[in-house]
Amino acid sequence: MKKSIADLGPLQGKRVIIRVDFNVPLKNGEVQDDYRIRSSIPTIRKVIDQGGRAILISHLGRPKGERDASLSLAPVAARLEDLLQRPVTFVADTIGDEAQKAVTSIIDGEVLVLENLRFDAREKSNDPEFADALAALGDVFVSDAFGTCHRAHASVCGLPARLPSAAGDVILKEIEELSPLLKDPPRPYVMVLGGAKLSTKIPLLKNMLGKVDAILVGGGMAYTLLKAQGRKVGTSRVDDTMIETAQEILEELRNKSREGGTTMILPVDNVCAKGIDDVSGFVVSPGDLPDDRMGLDVGPETLAKFVAVLRKAKTVFWNGPLGVFENPPFHLGTEYIATYLAHRNEITRTIVGGGDSAAAARQLGIADRMAHISTGGGASMEFLEGQSLPGLDALPEK
Ligand code: ADP
Ligand code: MG
Repeated sequence: MKKSIADLGPLQGKRVIIRVDFNVPLKNGEVQDDYRIRSSIPTIRKVIDQGGRAILISHLGRPKGERDASLSLAPVAARLEDLLQRPVTFVADTIGDEAQKAVTSIIDGEVLVLENLRFDAREKSNDPEFADALAALGDVFVSDAFGTCHRAHASVCGLPARLPSAAGDVILKEIEELSPLLKDPPRPYVMVLGGAKLSTKIPLLKNMLGKVDAILVGGGMAYTLLKAQGRKVGTSRVDDTMIETAQEILEELRNKSREGGTTMILPVDNVCAKGIDDVSGFVVSPGDLPDDRMGLDVGPETLAKFVAVLRKAKTVFWNGPLGVFENPPFHLGTEYIATYLAHRNEITRTIVGGGDSAAAARQLGIADRMAHISTGGGASMEFLEGQSLPGLDALPEK
């Protein structure tokens, strides 16, 4: 178990640096989705409710190591103030004079947000001097940006090497929910796997092969697997460099399912159209796809097959939309399965990982009926691929 905030001792009067994940989508200076800001609130409250002085640091977007006004954390600080119902101070500085002045003038229970860490290239290069300067701003450190834990950046790995440190609530919950998925959660244990490209899912697929009882595959990646099986996939998005790898995976699965292990279900019918925007010209095609059309969603027969497996499941890990859910009606497969799982949340625990899958779940309004939605896209994927995350390794155990 990682040390938690309680293990840091009394925080009254202490300057507590909290590395949060405020990497939210912005549009014209407005926060588009405040899910990550809301997720950070329990940790912030734990610190300020006992009189700690919260100094929040985060990155936002990819500013290339330079100041970029469109990626300032100012609008995020404003939204945080609304959500917390407490005054939040923002300074447009990260480690300079202004930031140093601000951390000495905040009082017990106050919240301060510093400017985007990545306005300084030394954040990403985990520069020791930059980490020293950050560490000088606080007395203790709480790490809570799970979504950045797969990166050895200064605020993620440099700080815990310099200050007494603990994991915040976001990180503890992620570890608690994701770790069992790598072991032996209540069975049947089913993975629903979709998304754009097979190549980005290979490590995940390989790591999960022996662990889950069934894998239900949809999304763009399914067509590479279908092509590897010798099926006709029309103009679907196929990763031709992955055909051999796909064949190896299919072979491994054949062996596994012969031993009574993992089975895989690929789409048996597909919703296909001339292109991703051809939302009125779609047809549902059983078996092989027409030469001039691409698969954009799983079809109804496939959904029925998926449900026949899911109705027995106790644990489901879902990663990747089953179709182009951004363009209705190609969202229907994803909506159907997500809604089905939401309805059965008392029988089946569903854990959602992956940025687009999480967005789909929230868009569909079923997010609060999932057992857990991981906040870390890339980080949760690497965790479930079985890799160790530098930002977690850097945090002390109890
Ligand atoms: P996640 O972020 O949840 O891991 P991915 O990034 O792997 O998911 O994939 C999400 C993308 O996959 C979405 O933008 C969706 O439109 C796309 N997608 C799903 N099905 C298809 C398909 N049949 N053809 C092309 N793209 C697809
Ligand atoms: Mg994605």
